[in-house]
Amino acid sequence: MTAFEVINPATAEVVRSVELASVEETDAAIARAQAAFPAWKAVAPGDRARLLRRFADKVDGAIEELAALEVLNAGHTIGNARWEAGNVRDVLHYYAAAPERLFGRQIPVAGGWDVTFQEPIGVVGVIVPWNFPMPIAGWGFAPALAAGNTVVLKPAELTPLTALRLAELALEAGIPEGVFQVLPGAGPVVGQRFVTHPAVRKVVFTGSTRVGKQIMAGCAEQVKRVTLELGGKSANIVFADADLEQAAATAPYGVFDNAGQDCCARSRILVQASVYDRFMALLEPAVKGVVVGEPGDEKTEMGPLISATQLERVSAYVPDDAPVAFRGSAPDGPGFWFPPTVLAPVSPRDPAAVDEIFGPVVAVIPFAEEEDAVRLANDSEYGLSGSIWTRDVGRALRVSRAVEAGNLSVNSHSSVRYWTPFGGFKQSGLGRELGPDALEPFTETKNVFIAH
Ligand code: NAD
Repeated sequence: MTAFEVINPATAEVVRSVELASVEETDAAIARAQAAFPAWKAVAPGDRARLLRRFADKVDGAIEELAALEVLNAGHTIGNARWEAGNVRDVLHYYAAAPERLFGRQIPVAGGWDVTFQEPIGVVGVIVPWNFPMPIAGWGFAPALAAGNTVVLKPAELTPLTALRLAELALEAGIPEGVFQVLPGAGPVVGQRFVTHPAVRKVVFTGSTRVGKQIMAGCAEQVKRVTLELGGKSANIVFADADLEQAAATAPYGVFDNAGQDCCARSRILVQASVYDRFMALLEPAVKGVVVGEPGDEKTEMGPLISATQLERVSAYVPDDAPVAFRGSAPDGPGFWFPPTVLAPVSPRDPAAVDEIFGPVVAVIPFAEEEDAVRLANDSEYGLSGSIWTRDVGRALRVSRAVEAGNLSVNSHSSVRYWTPFGGFKQSGLGRELGPDALEPFTETKNVFIAH
């Protein structure tokens, strides 16, 4: 085992040292998960549902504790961190209703009966990034467990604390040993082993598009099932007929939430040229009004970046000669702070308009007509989310259908509800999480014909 020092990003101080699992320890955990699978699969649907509801209740009882851990480990604002812990509870409750509803079908055939069964796959490996450690873990493990699979989960190196606590809460709730295990570890060690180990039958990966491609290629070797939730470069499209006050007041929160470290961050604002000046005049006070600071403070709206490396990466997109239109504020001193930053106008081919910066930097790009907005929005390898601001219902629907992205919102910036599907077009991912259909990819469909 090697130890990894977990850092508080708001202070740059070491919080705790966490042991990283080796390949041998990963293999041992996978063996335990494999051994636990037959009994977990055989748990009666109503009992599995009850255990998941108890797990949800344990999470509910630990909301403040989990939220405080995330403030400490990830620099999330206390408000966000509470929402994130509550999201784990809600996702568990939602999928706790699934075991008794995991229906097959009866299909009419000649000479007998034909029925289908939705069977669990086996051991599922879940690989989680550092930007939303709790929700993204839950989106993988809750439906996987509900469908009767056992789970090994690897949190990101930087943010293991809440996942470790969730594994303890599962045991306290009565989920049997070996059914849900959390293994802190290095991506190329533990994560890679999920890909290569033949007993892991599915990998759920959330993270960068670069690593996601490697995971997908690795899984091909064993025709392993894979779900990918990857990067984004989402467009926030503001038409001249929109409620400009509302569009400008909310735009900062559509991109700077979680310090821009959000796969759904609307990091390109496309503004119709006829209202560009007016929109920018309204955007400036909104950006300057974002409360950046100590993440544990109830009033704080944006905390620090996750690490010194991330601070360096984000800073590279704002060199001295960058077209900074205006910026918000950020604390001085220790911690990985970066102020909300608006670059404008930016050419659509500029790296700041193309790359997923994953920090509080937004590029504003003017456009002339509706078709230009759609072309610009789609001129990206990504297709995760986006927003459309207009008072014209026909345009809202037209543009919603034309933008190539998995999660769009009209006159708002919401992307995530646990009961609606979430996932990306193009290189933003493969498959969908959450919502009514997310259970099926954690099952195999078996067809059985019974002769008369
Ligand atoms: P990352 O790809 O570096 O790491 C993600 C996870 O993969 C970590 O747990 C890491 O340890 C592991 N990993 C790294 N190399 C690996 C390997 N060779 N084999 C197996 N596992 C490996 O991403 P990150 O920097 O932690 O997260 C940021 C990225 O995640 C951004 O691109 C963001 O857009 C994306 N993201 C996507 C969604 C979504 O739902 N689409 C949600 C959140 C984050």
